[in-house]
Amino acid sequence: MSIKPIFEKGAPGRKAYSLPDIDVPEVEINKLIPSQFLNDGFINLPEVSEVELIRHFTRLSQLNFGVDMGFYPLGSCTMKYNPKVNEEAAKLSGLMNSHPLQSENLSQGALKLMYELEAFLKEIGGLDSVSLQPAAGAHGELAGMLVVRAYHEANGNPRKKVLIPDSAHGTNPASAALAGYDIVVIKSSKDGLVDIDELKRAVDTDCAAVMLTNPNTIGLFEKDIFFISKVIHDAGALLYMDGANLNALLDITRPGDMGFDIVHFNLHKTFSTPHGGGGPGSGPIGVVEKLSPFIPVPIIEKGGDKYYLDYNRPHSIGSIHGFYGNFGVLVRAYTYIRRLGAKGLKEVSRNAILNANYIKKRLEGIYYLPNQGMCMHECVFSAKFQKAKGVHAWDISKRLQDYGFHPPTVNFPLIVDEAIMIEPTETEARETLDKFCDAMIAIAKEVETDPEIVKNAPHTRVVKRLDEAQAVKKPNLRWQKNLSNTIKNP
Ligand SMILES: *Cc1c(COP(=O)(O)O)cnc(C)c1O
Repeated sequence: MSIKPIFEKGAPGRKAYSLPDIDVPEVEINKLIPSQFLNDGFINLPEVSEVELIRHFTRLSQLNFGVDMGFYPLGSCTMKYNPKVNEEAAKLSGLMNSHPLQSENLSQGALKLMYELEAFLKEIGGLDSVSLQPAAGAHGELAGMLVVRAYHEANGNPRKKVLIPDSAHGTNPASAALAGYDIVVIKSSKDGLVDIDELKRAVDTDCAAVMLTNPNTIGLFEKDIFFISKVIHDAGALLYMDGANLNALLDITRPGDMGFDIVHFNLHKTFSTPHGGGGPGSGPIGVVEKLSPFIPVPIIEKGGDKYYLDYNRPHSIGSIHGFYGNFGVLVRAYTYIRRLGAKGLKEVSRNAILNANYIKKRLEGIYYLPNQGMCMHECVFSAKFQKAKGVHAWDISKRLQDYGFHPPTVNFPLIVDEAIMIEPTETEARETLDKFCDAMIAIAKEVETDPEIVKNAPHTRVVKRLDEAQAVKKPNLRWQKNLSNTIKNP
């Protein structure tokens, strides 16, 4: 099977439209548009019929993999199923067709929705104020770090450094550096948690904040969080939580109760809005009372029966995005929370944890487990056993595509050699988890008997191994005569 580019389909003169005859006088094009803006007549557009067009693009869409196509256990990314009712809500004409420059009087419904979403996130996070503005997790981190700076500056000294464990997501040090801080890396202990002695050594009066992910990126709960919080607060520093892993905590515990001062939420992960294609996201931040004056403007307030945007916050770090963020994502997250309620959210987290532990147990011994015991919403294996046969985590993830699964995250977190990080999420049935585990076990057997088949995977995809960095940064979207020869199914 080869997938022909649309340019190689159809025939001259074929078209996918039919228009009525023109009923106004025809005018020469060069009487309307100056000649230097006209091309020489040949523009090389595909000439295809409607059915060819539809088949071509439907076909292409099926080459893609999405949550609606199958199991997508990409660790740290929370690729849960996104309920379609969210889309129905986002499509309501009063929401979809509203405009950010519409008057407050005509925007009361949208403002109410955002006001209530802020309230839900405060409740879920155990925090006092929320800004919905940041457009992604990393953007929330930056906003949070700017709040850290503003807070310390208001106390007379912005301080110099931010401490971050070596297991952290790469966006954490990047965000702190963008906010002008030096990064100090805290080594993890051998059981995969923050090394308390290392932390104590690094915390001093130059320390502005500590950024933690809890549960951390290995899927383990930082059980000494109260002690960590005390050490940090005693030094006058702030405790920031990367809340991208909140899927493990909903209505079980709250960042605010653990002593965190700032948290970002990934609405597009935990609260089920489509993500993964680089489309709009949402990374609101929540903070404790003493940091409330500094969060981005506007926040949504209520006076009497009326909702309004509050820009009058003199200590705010300002705006970090147009208006109040990505409204469509906010509508989806709001719908998701309203539909599940507190009881449903708790079940989300309990099932997410159960599913991860189920996989952990079934694959134990077949793949090396760097950390024993219970995990939270994701489990991390290492392809250490397989590496001895010359097969890498990377190869195993590619081979999983032949079995019909999206690969898990590999080579992250960096502290685990040959990491394979699996986050099943709560939306998967036991049969799916079993099929996935069966595939992982079958691949481990192949590594023993026929490692080449794993090393050369995938075998069933149209494209095989792309250059992971360049394929995104320099996509080749131009038609080339021989393109159909380069994308062939082997
Ligand atoms: C996804 C993720 C982020 C970044 O979120 P984006 O919305 O992709 O910017 C940060 N930290 C962790 C732990 C994550 O999983």
